[in-house]
Amino acid sequence: MRVIDLHCDALFKLWESGGTLDYGRSEELAANRERLIQGGVQVQCYAIFVPPEVKAEHKLQAALDQIHYFYDEVLGRHPDFRHIQAWEDFDKLQDGEIGAMLTLEGAEPIGSDLKQLNILYQLGVRSIGLTWNDANLAADGVLEPRGAGLTVLGKDIVRFNNRHKLFTDVAHLSEKGFWEVMELADYPIASHCNARAVCDHPRNLYDAQAKALFDRDAMIHVVYYPPFVKENGQAALTDLIRHIDHFCSLGGVRNIGLGSDFDGIEQFVDGLEHAGKLPNLMNELLKHYKEEEVRGFASENFLRCRPR
Ligand SMILES: [Zn+2]
Repeated sequence: MRVIDLHCDALFKLWESGGTLDYGRSEELAANRERLIQGGVQVQCYAIFVPPEVKAEHKLQAALDQIHYFYDEVLGRHPDFRHIQAWEDFDKLQDGEIGAMLTLEGAEPIGSDLKQLNILYQLGVRSIGLTWNDANLAADGVLEPRGAGLTVLGKDIVRFNNRHKLFTDVAHLSEKGFWEVMELADYPIASHCNARAVCDHPRNLYDAQAKALFDRDAMIHVVYYPPFVKENGQAALTDLIRHIDHFCSLGGVRNIGLGSDFDGIEQFVDGLEHAGKLPNLMNELLKHYKEEEVRGFASENFLRCRPR
């Protein structure tokens, strides 16, 4: 089963380690090359994430440093990796190759300057999340109590995404921001979110939000972080599958994908401790769903819904 995973934070960990971790096989990386191969991952998306404690004037440099590790460590040292730069590149992957795509989690690195967003785009970023959990110059994140939506800058970023056929990612965005993105974005996506009806966490989506995405034929990629899976935070594979069941009950069977959050999380669903354990999830899914539906969750739904 070929898997497309819409979110991991391996670049953040490589950056945090100052480049000392070996992307090929470091035990500290849940989504290292060896584990992606073991787990059947065909495409991995790599988020650029600059944590809140980095001073504003250093955020762009931190983002560029993470892109350096993407080119130098992930792509540069592994000839079987292919950089995904265009939406048709997904169709060009040969057996034994792993596609790698850059995404941005939070618009902080660009400040208020769309020229800097264009630079990140030119370097390969193909999905833009306006916020992480906090408020920034583009929008409010889920943990900002003010609960505002998009600023003028945030709307300009969405228009930039539309013009260049980039995803606008609603994971981490405030509820008001979500609805504004749904109005404005041509290519909305939720790259790593679960169902709030199953686990009531602010990072998860209400049914109305999930339905609005499905009505647009947009994707929700379920996330493996236990606090987003089950309210007591201890989660089994079947608990994760309850989110898929729920999204299916809302009409999402052809709009559900996977967004692990590996290397951005320190707790794990039992049996899903790193990317190499993905066959456990696939086997469990095959007990509940037809093979073609599981192939849909693993990769084919995303391939059908990607921008053209
Ligand atoms: Zn995240």
